[in-house]
Amino acid sequence: MKPIHLLPAAIATASVMAAETGLVHLANPLQGTDSTREFSHGNTYPAVALPFPMNKWAPYTQPAKDPFFYQYRQNKLRGIRQTHQPSPWIGDYANFSLMPVFGKLAVTEDDRASVFRHETEIARPSYYKVRLDTWRATMEVTPTERAAGFRFTFEEAGDGYIVLDAFDKGSEVEVIPAENKVIGICRNHRDGVPENFANYFVIVFDRPFVTHGTWTPDAVHEGKSKLAADHAGAYLKFKVGKGEAIGCKVASSYISPAQAQRNLDREIGGRDFDAVLAAADATWNAMLNRIRVEGGSEEQQRTFYSAMYRSVIFPHRFFEFDENDKPVYFSPYDGKIHQGTLYTDTGYWDTFRASHPLYNLLFPDISAEIIRGNLAAYEQSGWLPAWSSPGHRACMIGNHAFSLMADAWVKGITGFDANKAVDAMVHDANTQSPEKIRAIGRDGAEFYQKNGWVPFPEFKEATAKTLEYAYGDFCAAVLARSAGRHAEADEFARDAMNYKNVFDAETGFVRGRKADGAWCENFDPIEWGGPFTEGNSWHWTWSVFHDVPGLIKLLGGDGAFGRKLDAVFQTPPDVKVGSYGHMIHEMTEMVASNMGQYAHGNQPIQHMIYLYNYAGQPWKTQARAREVMTRLYQSTPDGFCGDEDTGQMSSWYVFSALGFYPVCPGTTEYLIGSPLFDRATIALPDGREFVIHAKSNGPQRPYIAGATLNGGKFNRTFLDHAEITKGGSIEFEMTSAPDYGWGTQPESRPAAAIGILSK
Ligand code: CA
Repeated sequence: MKPIHLLPAAIATASVMAAETGLVHLANPLQGTDSTREFSHGNTYPAVALPFPMNKWAPYTQPAKDPFFYQYRQNKLRGIRQTHQPSPWIGDYANFSLMPVFGKLAVTEDDRASVFRHETEIARPSYYKVRLDTWRATMEVTPTERAAGFRFTFEEAGDGYIVLDAFDKGSEVEVIPAENKVIGICRNHRDGVPENFANYFVIVFDRPFVTHGTWTPDAVHEGKSKLAADHAGAYLKFKVGKGEAIGCKVASSYISPAQAQRNLDREIGGRDFDAVLAAADATWNAMLNRIRVEGGSEEQQRTFYSAMYRSVIFPHRFFEFDENDKPVYFSPYDGKIHQGTLYTDTGYWDTFRASHPLYNLLFPDISAEIIRGNLAAYEQSGWLPAWSSPGHRACMIGNHAFSLMADAWVKGITGFDANKAVDAMVHDANTQSPEKIRAIGRDGAEFYQKNGWVPFPEFKEATAKTLEYAYGDFCAAVLARSAGRHAEADEFARDAMNYKNVFDAETGFVRGRKADGAWCENFDPIEWGGPFTEGNSWHWTWSVFHDVPGLIKLLGGDGAFGRKLDAVFQTPPDVKVGSYGHMIHEMTEMVASNMGQYAHGNQPIQHMIYLYNYAGQPWKTQARAREVMTRLYQSTPDGFCGDEDTGQMSSWYVFSALGFYPVCPGTTEYLIGSPLFDRATIALPDGREFVIHAKSNGPQRPYIAGATLNGGKFNRTFLDHAEITKGGSIEFEMTSAPDYGWGTQPESRPAAAIGILSK
């Protein structure tokens, strides 16, 4: 790492201006793509897309059946696909792809695959280009929210082909030569859709075809224009000159072919590739300029803007604009067309922690749209979404749509019906999950309501569920209280303390508890699974976001609490695989991170570093937050220490680099860590700015020795949301050794979030 020099004011201004034109070049879509099923460096793919898009576009190296579809270490590409995949563990849906071949026709994913090299790749959020060595051609793509421009350039004169693959599980293609157009339907999905689900696409080329045809994996039908099959495709043949480029524009719709054409006309119209690209670059530069960082190394700036990019490419807009420019969507919940906004392809178990709090800070209007969509999903399906892609999926635990609503509400985002929200919370908190989708409602609801914990082994991951239900109850209490529904708020507030029912004072850990109240035998805090979700008790003991002071009491006070947090890092990274029966990738990644039992590669413990502030030991938060930022994040293909997970891992970094983190969404407090950059300026939604200035910062200077907020002495280890949103500046004095005085007094510490319920 390079030492940091403070720039003179004039040069600093010039660098900001340069940054405004080019931040998109600092974001690397290839970050995290060097992953395998066994070891995740992010499990990402290079998503070419606008912020919160309906469609993403990505090259793919793997056969269509492999959800780990772009693997950096591979050397063949099969095309650029439209993708909606949130995670390889959920899988992709509604895919079709385009690929050029030259000299001879090759249609199947194996036959058309081309060798490529990373040195010919250009990847940024708004643009992807690669040379296909086998075909001596390049392909380029640039996105709008629902459409894309493609350009294929052939290096030699001859027969150039563009191959459309509409994937399997039911697809249709139709070539319309008179209009230089191909239309089609793909129905591929991995669950979470109704019977009538379809993705209608339209592709318009910039010149006539010489000839065309259709294909299936078994046969090519030369001259045929129409095909419906399990797996249909089409091809277009062009006579190309040396260096000639063929362009096309592509759009799709979940509603109808006419809507697909409307999306194309609305978002691209008569614009050419370069105009679409310029607009995409401008959109990204405006987005990334919402937080301007100065100082740090170039690599740290690349990592930061890569994290900004990954923080805002999920969830996906699932809505389109009708002929009156009103948002409408096909609902994956009831198969009907509805007015309004719906967002999808995210798991709230991951993203409630930092992603949605980031949206609440930067994009309150989008947060309100997301929540209105969730309430519509509740009306259409009877449940709030938990893991949607595009409809309900059976994945993970908890009721974290509650967290989104409570966090938005306390931060002044009131553009949704709070009464309806409380109705939905009351329903979901009290209703047993459906057999096939344990992620929605509550698995073990009846026992939990009656006894205050979820029993093991009757219910899988029962202790993790108890902890997350208790946090959900806190969030529900916050909103119910605000909505004036005090009886329900009181009941939720009482249940929010249920975390105590799975804390075992004897071992000092949360633990599996049986239906008769006894603890499960043979407890070992390094054992994964069983009553826990993708973790062990070292990870889950901290999942008491809303009452950390209560947890401190259970653990024996500030000193004991601090030692227990220290022990997470000091305990060797040994693993008992428990109910998983083998090393799952999250275990391997914890071992590789080499921070003891601290497993930053997965969500349960990601807030834990910030908990030292509650015990008056903020210097430990500062050191560990800085260590994770600098050791476990890079902008490179191996740049994450575990699954990125639809923005959560990246949003952790964005907040942490700013110097604060939302430990308990549903409250307005952010806990202070260690600002990474000399200066960061947040452009707030109403045009105001909040500046974080870290004086004397440097690689070996993670500690805070003093601070001022808007010029006044600041000795707290938390910031309130309103202190940020009203604009202003906080200035930290950074130093190389722990400062045991700053932020350590009882009055400096954050309060128990649960306390807001009695205000
Ligand atoms: Ca994860």
